[in-house]
Amino acid sequence: MDYVKLINCMRCGMCLPSCPTYKETFLETASPRGRVALIRKLQEGELDQSERLLEYLSLCLDCQACASACPCGVNAGELVAEFTCERKDGSGLNYMEDLILRKLVPHPDRLETSMMPMRIYQRTGLQKLVRTLGILKMFPKPLERMEALLPPLPSRPLRQEIMEITPAIGIERGTVGFFLGCVMSLIFSDASRATIKLLSSLGYKVITPRNQVCCGAPNMLGGDLDGLKEAARTNIEVFGGYDVDFIVTDCGGCGAELKKYGHHIDGDLSSAFSAKVRDISQVLALHADVLAPLLKPLPLKVTYHDPCHIAHCQGIRKEPRDLLKLVPGLIYKELETADACCGSAGTYNITKPEMSDMILQRKLDTVRASGAEILVTSNPGCLLQLKKGLADHLPDVRIMHLTEILSQSMDS
Ligand code: SF4
Ligand code: SF4
Repeated sequence: MDYVKLINCMRCGMCLPSCPTYKETFLETASPRGRVALIRKLQEGELDQSERLLEYLSLCLDCQACASACPCGVNAGELVAEFTCERKDGSGLNYMEDLILRKLVPHPDRLETSMMPMRIYQRTGLQKLVRTLGILKMFPKPLERMEALLPPLPSRPLRQEIMEITPAIGIERGTVGFFLGCVMSLIFSDASRATIKLLSSLGYKVITPRNQVCCGAPNMLGGDLDGLKEAARTNIEVFGGYDVDFIVTDCGGCGAELKKYGHHIDGDLSSAFSAKVRDISQVLALHADVLAPLLKPLPLKVTYHDPCHIAHCQGIRKEPRDLLKLVPGLIYKELETADACCGSAGTYNITKPEMSDMILQRKLDTVRASGAEILVTSNPGCLLQLKKGLADHLPDVRIMHLTEILSQSMDS
């Protein structure tokens, strides 16, 4: 770990009001400043890696709201993630982590097969029966939460049915590679289908290589830097086989990770790959003049939640809002603290349920206050978390991916 990054913190406290865990606890040890201080003391040998200390660090969501607020460029979330990677590097992955991060996640076929039982469970009516009888209460809590978060799955993952080449509609303006996020393909395939449709409507030929793999974000989250690098090398090689203008993704988490390949792997190829990565909102906003005439009226009250991986990690805030405001008849309502985390953060909502629920509740309060009937966002983790939260507390508010609402406006 780069020690300079730690000593850059001047302890001003400007990050505190933006940190979700500090807002809930008012504990210095659950603040960005406190986390930087803890890691620094560990590096300096003044503290030992006690269970309690690791627990404080593990409460960080890596939302990077602190990085947006810090005047000195300190990124406490990234430092905690780096510290976790270094710690895991020494102790290695445990059996479950090895199984998930090395044997399952990097293999799309296995990942898709692993979802089959869930699909059968949902489609045979077994899920309804299990929920009615409250059978899940007999299982460990994390399993119960996972089951509750999972929305109805599509009949097939998008990767299995999407054409490798989707032609441009009208005059071809260029070629893009489409990065299929695992969760987008497995769960939110309609949104990614809408993404591809929008790109081709704007005149892009869309190449979706089937042999691409997970971006590696779950490996980074689990402290498995080697696994992340392996995923990066595969994706760089796969997309390097095509001549594309951009590598586009509609998953905030994937986009943030893909843009960091150049940082994790030395060499021109990784930097060139990262330089081509764009969030879908960036590409669509680039062609707003072409998109606008294709959109038809949608008289809906809509608000937008900034995913942390899009707002804080990629600095994209204006484009999604500008795109929503292109839709005729749409009434846009700004959400208070729209870029505050929703509490999803990978598997955080499973591993830290109490904190995640408190953070989610704050977000739902702002959605209620906005008076919107549609909540738009563009990251699968946020979609899962907020969909469940809305179903439980605000059933009249629907959630949609940004590309779904734009595609709906095109079709309406
Ligand atoms: S992390 Fe940045 S904002 Fe927070 S206390 Fe340190 S210098 Fe200030
Ligand atoms: S990444 Fe998020 S949770 Fe972690 S210290 Fe920064 S603001 Fe707090």
